[in-house]
Amino acid sequence: MDFRLTKEQKYIQKAAREFAKGELAQVGREYDLNETYPEEIIKKARELDLIGLFIPEKFGGPGLGYLEQAIVLEELWKVDPGISQQLCSLTFGAEEFILFGTQDQGKKFLEPIFTGDAVMGFAITEPDAGSDTLSASTLAVKEGNEWVINGSKVMIGNGTKGTFMLIFALTDPDAKSSAKRHSIFIVETDREGYTAEPMHGKMGLRCSDTAAIYLNNVRVPEENLLGKQGNGFHQLMAFFDRSRAYVSAHGVGLAQGALDMAVKHIKGRKQFGKPIGSFQGVQFKVADMAVKVELARNIMYKAAWLLDNGTPDTHVTAMAKMYAARIAVEVVDEALQLHGGYGYFDDYDIERFYRAAKVLEIYEGAKEIEKMIIGRTIIGL
Ligand SMILES: Cc1cc2nc3c(=O)[nH]c(=O)nc-3n(C[C@H](O)[C@H](O)[C@H](O)COP(=O)(O)OP(=O)(O)OC[C@H]3O[C@@H](n4cnc5c(N)ncnc54)[C@H](O)[C@@H]3O)c2cc1C
Repeated sequence: MDFRLTKEQKYIQKAAREFAKGELAQVGREYDLNETYPEEIIKKARELDLIGLFIPEKFGGPGLGYLEQAIVLEELWKVDPGISQQLCSLTFGAEEFILFGTQDQGKKFLEPIFTGDAVMGFAITEPDAGSDTLSASTLAVKEGNEWVINGSKVMIGNGTKGTFMLIFALTDPDAKSSAKRHSIFIVETDREGYTAEPMHGKMGLRCSDTAAIYLNNVRVPEENLLGKQGNGFHQLMAFFDRSRAYVSAHGVGLAQGALDMAVKHIKGRKQFGKPIGSFQGVQFKVADMAVKVELARNIMYKAAWLLDNGTPDTHVTAMAKMYAARIAVEVVDEALQLHGGYGYFDDYDIERFYRAAKVLEIYEGAKEIEKMIIGRTIIGL
């Protein structure tokens, strides 16, 4: 495995870094406060090919790899986690089309994302089905050549802004294996019976759109089944093998951003007649933070590299997601500590980063779920 970035990857990294510094740095706080996101900036990111890098050209995407996607996400999350979350969620679930969809589905639904005509989301979580995805009870029943869907979903990214949503639904409740009971549907959000309500008051990532979704006799044609009937859980796990690598990139970016802010602050802030960064106790903190970020970056690269080389590894991806999320929470906590009381005020970006970090240990598999995957793989029982 060679972790040196190619010339092209370095170029992409630089473009993402410049975009983040130029477009996100000044406005992140304002959008977080107002719980909205800047359409103009999203448009620019699209034009610069900074979204959905892993989506093939045949579906309108840049046709690059998971590593390129992770590199870009790291740069964005370093500067503003909120708008970056919204950028990332524009293609949340697109892997399902690439891995399991037909050519027609990919062209019809993914291409418009790159022209700004579509926004997608992936609705798995329900009020009574979070970590236990197999208990999802949103029901899809076949009637002629249509599926009729009923149920509700919560905490869904792009729930109100999405033009179409992937819905994880129960289709085969009597299947012997619980892993063969669900399927995934593409549901256009303007279909009759689809409604969404924004969920306000998030602790962090406040500018990103999160909503509850209600499906009341929503009818979709047969061709909106994505992948095979009864294969939804397998498809979902394949998606998580990929999306969790991205969450590790979120964690690495957020932690690096927090570390950078702390270093800047401790060089300028003087106490006892010296910059606080000159005290060994503070230097040790910085060293510990830097080692954590570097290790998280290494395993993030490894997870993405394995994906790009056609050997996705659930175990490594779970480790990457769990570790990067953990260190993001730890590093941002220490970075705020180094800001002293100033860090507790929202004039300082570290306050927003602190609020943003925690969700990384919750969504797309809480840290306990990642630990279950890792532990089970090692023990083999
Ligand atoms: C900002 C945000 C955005 C989100 N976006 C989306 C989205 O776009 N689409 C979507 O489908 N969902 C989304 N979610 C939902 C998210 O994926 C869930 O919150 C997550 O899967 C956890 O489910 P839960 O909240 O129901 O917690 P629960 O499953 O109720 O878990 C609560 C706690 O119990 C622990 N726990 C549960 N089972 C076990 C066990 N067997 N052993 C040990 N510990 C256990 C969990 O780890 C957790 O710590 C989002 C959530 C947030 C906060």
